[in-house]
Amino acid sequence: MDGWEVVIGMEVHVQPKTLTKMFCGCAVAPLNAPPNTYVCEVCLGLPGVLPVPNRAAVEACLKTALALNCEIPRHTKFDRKNYMYPDLPKGYQISQYDLPMSVDGHLEVGSRKVRIRRVHLEEDTGKLIHAGDKLHKAWESYVDLNRAGVPLMEIVSEPDLRSADEARDYAMELRTLLRTIGASEADMEKGQMRAEPNISIRRPETEEFGVKTELKNINSFRALHRAILYEVDRQTQALESGRTIVQETRGWSESEQRTFSQRSKEFAEDYRYFPEPDIPPLELDRAWIEELRRALPELPSVRRTRLLEHLPAAQVAVIGNDRDLADLFESAVASGAPALATANWIVNEVAPSGKLVSAEYLAELMKMLQDGAITRDSAREVYAESVETGRTPAEIVAEHGYSQVSDESELRVVAAAVIDANPKAVADYRGGKKQAMQALMQDLRKRAPHANPKVANKVLLELLA
Ligand SMILES: [Zn+2]
Repeated sequence: MDGWEVVIGMEVHVQPKTLTKMFCGCAVAPLNAPPNTYVCEVCLGLPGVLPVPNRAAVEACLKTALALNCEIPRHTKFDRKNYMYPDLPKGYQISQYDLPMSVDGHLEVGSRKVRIRRVHLEEDTGKLIHAGDKLHKAWESYVDLNRAGVPLMEIVSEPDLRSADEARDYAMELRTLLRTIGASEADMEKGQMRAEPNISIRRPETEEFGVKTELKNINSFRALHRAILYEVDRQTQALESGRTIVQETRGWSESEQRTFSQRSKEFAEDYRYFPEPDIPPLELDRAWIEELRRALPELPSVRRTRLLEHLPAAQVAVIGNDRDLADLFESAVASGAPALATANWIVNEVAPSGKLVSAEYLAELMKMLQDGAITRDSAREVYAESVETGRTPAEIVAEHGYSQVSDESELRVVAAAVIDANPKAVADYRGGKKQAMQALMQDLRKRAPHANPKVANKVLLELLA
């Protein structure tokens, strides 16, 4: 990549959290619902029906726009984007063209301020399923319209990203933000968030952009990163060997790990946009918008800055990117849990399992651990049982006898037995092989699983001296 600057803009499609579709009363279908069971006259595009915008989708879009520091124009309208494709029953998609719901925002990603051009609302298309019999060359295509008419927000950035890393970080930050404000679950695996980066390269210090290609429907952060790296490499090789870049839409093949040409780029005029005649323009109530703005929770960037005052960056990277974990951490600390130990616990024990207890319970457990009342292994078991049964850590410890043994005289008896049973390790240790201590401690833990490791170690050392 020597001598080239990478320029990336992103379009991200996000399914807002709603119960029903964008313009009809159909429920949003769960994954793996039987095909064409969540459809009605409106989303099938039958004649004579009228679309009605979904208020919850408009609200999610406005919240997203506000969290992205966008301006909300007084008027907004829906437009028809016309094209023919078998997954689009009406022959047009209701989208927004020249008066989107919001414009001119930004999102900070690391040290980069990425400008947001617009966030608008539209509807999703159906899904085509291609099947067939290779041997007899009999091909069949099916269409499932459960997704047709599901609301989508399109979040369009300016071409402000400069690497595959930045593009991935941008998408991840967007996901964190959307989840924090409750606008979407933004689960890429479930197709609730799809990224479409447009990529070009140019010589540094040049004003003009190179010819860009757009990658369609990328559905994981890993694929996003790899597809961009591939595309940058492809463009670099083309330009350096004197070829040109064709402006086009490309797909990403996960199995072959490469991008491939899908179709030449369409331009806005190809879609013959015109105002949707069945939906009057919306005049957005300013009081409602201000109410939504006030109700926004603390945004992830602000919270991370606050967490960084108390915690190392590595822990903030985990806790600060998940609202549930951050809430758990801050409430537990407010209930008296030690900050650093609790953060470690959340990063190592809670985040991987995704299983949360109440903040009060976590605080109780962390205090027991810190006071040496239980071992770390026991704490793990208590935590798991508390998640499962909803009982308090103190109850569980009392019932199972998890209480840690810190009594020196009691541990001295166990340590003496360990020394008797391991003459070789004892001789090794006394002969200067300090690592023999590990075997002795291991045996001690086997005999007394609830021994306080610090006290046990001390007692054992005294007897070996
Ligand atoms: Zn419907």
